Amino acid sequence: IGGHPKPAADSQSIPGVDRILAIASGKGGVGKSTVSSNLAVALAKQGRRVGLLDADIHGPSQPRMMGVSKRPASPDGKTIIPLQAHGVTMMSLGLMLDEDQAVIWRGPMLMGALQQMLGQVEWGELDVLIIDLPPGTGDVQLTLAQKSKVTGAVIVSTPQDVALLDARKAMNMFNQLKTPIVGMIENMSHYVCPDCGKEAHIFGHGGARAEAEKQNLPFLGEIPLDLEIRLAGDGGTPIAATDNPIADAYAKIAKGLID
Ligand code: ADP
Repeated sequence: IGGHPKPAADSQSIPGVDRILAIASGKGGVGKSTVSSNLAVALAKQGRRVGLLDADIHGPSQPRMMGVSKRPASPDGKTIIPLQAHGVTMMSLGLMLDEDQAVIWRGPMLMGALQQMLGQVEWGELDVLIIDLPPGTGDVQLTLAQKSKVTGAVIVSTPQDVALLDARKAMNMFNQLKTPIVGMIENMSHYVCPDCGKEAHIFGHGGARAEAEKQNLPFLGEIPLDLEIRLAGDGGTPIAATDNPIADAYAKIAKGLID
């Protein structure tokens, strides 16, 4: 990001919402949305009141991952009633669009949509609102950090160098914006062959942990590359909502986020 963006003095908290956690990544496709939905569900299973805002405005994937498709109601034409899925209160711009509809918006329109989702959605009382950010260091991240009181950002990366390189850029952006970074999660950290049980490191292993150490940040945990995670996400029931043992990995990370 150019210049020296600062958190605006008028940054707002959302009434009734205790904490806002932004889930961010440098690169797309590293599993940020999958981590967001699973952490939201894991926290809800732990008895937290959780909201999930899909701010990945160009590629909203939460409706599919959380298994919702209903258009949210707006009885008064101003406030928007979010949907409920797997114990989570959720909202996504994807719910306002047809699934195949492309969003071709310029910055100011994006800002408007984001602010609408933050300010006009009836989030109710929440222990935590999880925001699934778009990848990278663009307008949405900037607006969010400047306009809302984000408690912290969680960085998701694969162990691969190209992903870590971009993750570092995202972390630099949050540092400049004075948004605290809660820590890093390594996604797709290893793969266990279902036939022979052998562990393979398709994108390397341990890169995010090493990066977290280097940056003096907490390492929050690792999630394997696993077919069931992908199938669960595509099927609209995040694996954290099931009794698959991988749910425990998300539960552990989720616990560490709020304790
Ligand atoms: P991002 O939000 O970073 O763009 P997504 O969460 O949409 O990434 O993930 C990209 C693809 O990878 C999706 O198809 C998702 O189901 C899959 N995926 C994400 N994490 C895992 C994982 N740990 N194991 C297997 N598939 C995964």
